[in-house]
Amino acid sequence: MQFADLTKVLQEEIDAWEGRSQSQSVGFVGQVGDSVATVRGLDKVVYGELIDFSSGAKGIALNLEEGGVGCVLTSGAEGVKDGEEVNGTGRVVSVPVGAGLLGRVVNPLGEPIDGKGVLKEEAFYPVESPAPAVIDRSSVDTPLQTGVLSIDSMIPIGRGQRELIIGDRQTGKTAIAIDAIINQKNKDVYCIYCAIGQKSSSVAAIVENLKKHGALSYTLIVLASASDSAALQYLAPYSAVAMAEYFMRKGKDVLVVYDDLSKHAVAYRTISLLLRRPPGREAFPGDVFYLHSRLLERSAKLSASHGGGSITALPIVETQAGDISSYIPTNVISITDGQIFLDSELFNSGFRPAIDVGLSVSRIGGAAQKKAVRKVAGRLRLDLAQYREMAAFAQFGSDLDKSTQDKLVQGERIMEVLKQPQFNPYSMEDQAALLYVAVHGYLSKVKIEKVADFSRDFLQYLRLNAAKIMETIAETGEISMELEQELELAAGKFLEQWLKKAA
Ligand code: ATP
Ligand code: MG
Repeated sequence: MQFADLTKVLQEEIDAWEGRSQSQSVGFVGQVGDSVATVRGLDKVVYGELIDFSSGAKGIALNLEEGGVGCVLTSGAEGVKDGEEVNGTGRVVSVPVGAGLLGRVVNPLGEPIDGKGVLKEEAFYPVESPAPAVIDRSSVDTPLQTGVLSIDSMIPIGRGQRELIIGDRQTGKTAIAIDAIINQKNKDVYCIYCAIGQKSSSVAAIVENLKKHGALSYTLIVLASASDSAALQYLAPYSAVAMAEYFMRKGKDVLVVYDDLSKHAVAYRTISLLLRRPPGREAFPGDVFYLHSRLLERSAKLSASHGGGSITALPIVETQAGDISSYIPTNVISITDGQIFLDSELFNSGFRPAIDVGLSVSRIGGAAQKKAVRKVAGRLRLDLAQYREMAAFAQFGSDLDKSTQDKLVQGERIMEVLKQPQFNPYSMEDQAALLYVAVHGYLSKVKIEKVADFSRDFLQYLRLNAAKIMETIAETGEISMELEQELELAAGKFLEQWLKKAA
């Protein structure tokens, strides 16, 4: 070969090499283990960038340090070898979004895992994106009916709100969230259930229940099970909210359930410790607050000029022995707009859903509640508070005067009305009618063990004999003076009949 030819070839090689190094950053695996890899090189990488390994594995850059880049591996971790070449892709992780995902189960990378074939996505959205700005938001003013009587009456949730469900293990946290999803049928709300670190079998049962109650067609499930890597569990809620954002920007209302964020925090702690970040309180890294705040800030009610869509978030947090003052619970309580506190003692005594009304709040107020329910809700809270106080007092067995006894009778019956089995959501008009008879003392003549029967029969009676009343409440969302008289009449008539039959 001529010398001139040789220089030409070399020159071409050099040109080609420069072109490659400009378009992407390259590095080499220095250390790998436990789904975490340290990579040398990768000078141009950005935080959260998707990293391609030449063995086919994928990772996310989470630690950018002088000596190297710390990556968590989201797939193919087993095949990664020491010294193998890696490439930065120049983009952050994105997931498929679109209506084609409804009714499907996907992993946090947006890959289908339900065996129903390929997804029909409409776009790809980055898993990390900034929350809507204050200017783009409007205040929460539309109720999101959960169908759970105690929640809709005393702890109302609005579209765009973030309401925490918190309680010990096995207190019915998931049950409430699933009931809320089932209740969105025909309400034009899309739902996303994001399962983090749960057993695949429990999630399969949940999917089955959603299907059985006709809720799967408008629900999408994002699953990172207990057997998935910490990296996937860490990614899951961000993927879920990215999928929700697509619908929100189209002007739709979305309900997202994160079940649960305690396990999410644990997955993040695992990653952080493997990346050798310094541990802080309870060995969580220092930025664990930001982990959840940047997630929950992405729920919003957009203003009309941005389409008016919304994302309502129901994060779930598990407590140990009812301790809501430990690290993760206090963090998430302070980020959300209220909490539904579930009490294991109430649950075990048979009061289900085991909502402790005293410790639960919704900081949204009456704007997100229908007038028909709001009218009686104030009385309800007061009656219950008085009942609790007097019930504690009555335990001492002292003589009770008539008014105290009446309050106890009334309180016991209200507690009974608030009991509600799973998968049995009440419509708004059912709730209004039930609460009406409960706070107006209609139940005092009904035996305590018969209250559940009474409620069921009463609602059926109204549906058959007073359909007009129920329709009007459903349409107008309030109980006018005339309507109240009609309801009073119907309730009185029913009570008389029912007591005769029961006697
Ligand atoms: P975990 O901590 O395991 O996630 P959890 O707090 O999510 O538990 P669930 O799984 O929702 O609790 O409920 C625990 C059990 O209680 C389930 O068997 C469920 O069927 C039952 N349960 C929940 N809510 C009710 C209810 N309102 N009425 C009757 N049973 C209920
Ligand atoms: Mg659960």
